[in-house]
Amino acid sequence: MSRIHALNMSESAWKEWCVASGTKAFLGTQIIEWMTRKNCMDPMQFSNVSQALRSKLNEDFDWNLPGIDTVLESGDASEKILLKTHDNLFTECVLMPSENRVTLCVSSQVGCRMACTFCQTGKMGLTRDLSRGEILAQIIIANRRLLEKGDDRRVTNIVFMGMGEPLDNFDEVVAACSVMLDERFFGLSKHRVTVSTSGLVPAIEELGKLVPVSLAISLHSADEVQRSGMMPINRKHSLAELKEVLLRYPVQTRHGITFEYVMINGVNDSIPHAKKLVKFLHGLKAKVNLIPMNPHPGTDMVATDPERMREFQKYLTDRSIPAPVRYSRGQDVSAACGQLASKRREELNHAPRTVALARRKEWLAQKV
Ligand code: SF4
Repeated sequence: MSRIHALNMSESAWKEWCVASGTKAFLGTQIIEWMTRKNCMDPMQFSNVSQALRSKLNEDFDWNLPGIDTVLESGDASEKILLKTHDNLFTECVLMPSENRVTLCVSSQVGCRMACTFCQTGKMGLTRDLSRGEILAQIIIANRRLLEKGDDRRVTNIVFMGMGEPLDNFDEVVAACSVMLDERFFGLSKHRVTVSTSGLVPAIEELGKLVPVSLAISLHSADEVQRSGMMPINRKHSLAELKEVLLRYPVQTRHGITFEYVMINGVNDSIPHAKKLVKFLHGLKAKVNLIPMNPHPGTDMVATDPERMREFQKYLTDRSIPAPVRYSRGQDVSAACGQLASKRREELNHAPRTVALARRKEWLAQKV
């Protein structure tokens, strides 16, 4: 029988296990502290636990973190970490240290069923949900990476913008967020944990009631017909329905709700599109992140040119809507969501020689 992963145990489950093992319930909290505060996944090192109990912990639970398959370091100091799960699937997270924060972009699923047309993960379909432990493991791995690089900081900000639609894996994501926000464990501020969704309306409502996290919406168009074409979720939950739930959402940050808007040349980047966006945002406390489309294999969509982007941005800011242009960090290492994992999956489907030739071609192209 496979053993339950230690990071998948809730605090109450740990307490019950401790009592059933003949020790005090509070030790259950300390076990989670070892993992989350000290990055320690070896129960034999738990110095406040008896030797007999350490051995029992070691035997009863799985303490392995996902393996690190590849780390791609970008010229902008971010790094993409490709992880291999216990069942040999690939998922990824992106570590983005900057002067005053360390942001980690985490995945919540292997693949994604939402099928947004501009997204590489969407093309993979959904393989499976990640467990709460597999989500939390990404933070432990990132904190260890920081230490290895001589950076004594820890991850300060989490964004659920990696692979997957977090609200399609609701229970595991909510459970993981609770551990992130708990000051005894990862202790992250509620302003600094952001769940980004394509618009699963009933789940947005629930999320607001259960955990005080910040919300980001992948919007990309404020036109019902166009958005339904780009993001199939819009056929189920229209923009009108989405707006209704957002008006009720308990916002956690000064700037309110963040809207992600990928700027795609000739698709959603005209002034009439900006007008529709302003109309949609009316009555909401909002910030819009304008993100130039990150081209990837299998699509002919490209980023809006900078001049057009500035006009779009000015239209929003003239109407008091903050609209910073955000370039995806780590573009040189395929840091947009799903790019590396899907590349790796494709590689595994090819003969090693084909992969080696493709990698050499990429390397030569970078040298030019
Ligand atoms: S943009 Fe987000 S929700 Fe849409 S397919 Fe990609 S990962 Fe899924």
